[in-house]
Amino acid sequence: MRYDGTDIAMNVMFMIGFLASVVFFCSMLTGCQYVQLPHQREAAYSVWEVTYYDLSEDPPPIRWVFQQDLDCSPDRSGQDVGFHPPKFFGALERTGQCVGGETYGLFYEVYEVQLAAPDGKTFSETAFAHELYHAFLHYRDGDGDDRHSDPGFGIGYGHLYGLVDAANDALRSQGL
Ligand SMILES: [Zn+2]
Repeated sequence: MRYDGTDIAMNVMFMIGFLASVVFFCSMLTGCQYVQLPHQREAAYSVWEVTYYDLSEDPPPIRWVFQQDLDCSPDRSGQDVGFHPPKFFGALERTGQCVGGETYGLFYEVYEVQLAAPDGKTFSETAFAHELYHAFLHYRDGDGDDRHSDPGFGIGYGHLYGLVDAANDALRSQGL
């Protein structure tokens, strides 16, 4: 079978269209774009189901920001364990603030959690439970409480021992 120039051009056009569709649909589906860390599912459900036991929603998707993309220090440690988050759904605009974790409202009021994953840290040593708590409040109240006024944010935010502290203790007890 011979191909002439028109056939080849048609095939190339078809392949470009096909690949563009795959990229487009992947961007719509959470499964294509979220990397799962080892034991992440266990850790998420430990925080989500054990601590927030009356919640029927699934935990939100998590976008990890790995060491090579951590370029600032969110605290006084001076270590590069933070990132400047994209404002919204993969947008390239970056905020001036350096963070270790952020939550975003997405289409249809679904949350995305973005979390720094510095080398060698366990889940309880990141903002994992904290950011999941923002998402939980968003699901429960329609507001993720950016100001951390909910007592559940616990000791790090001027409250008594709270749900986030309990969630981190639960993770630590499982070595996560
Ligand atoms: Zn927060």
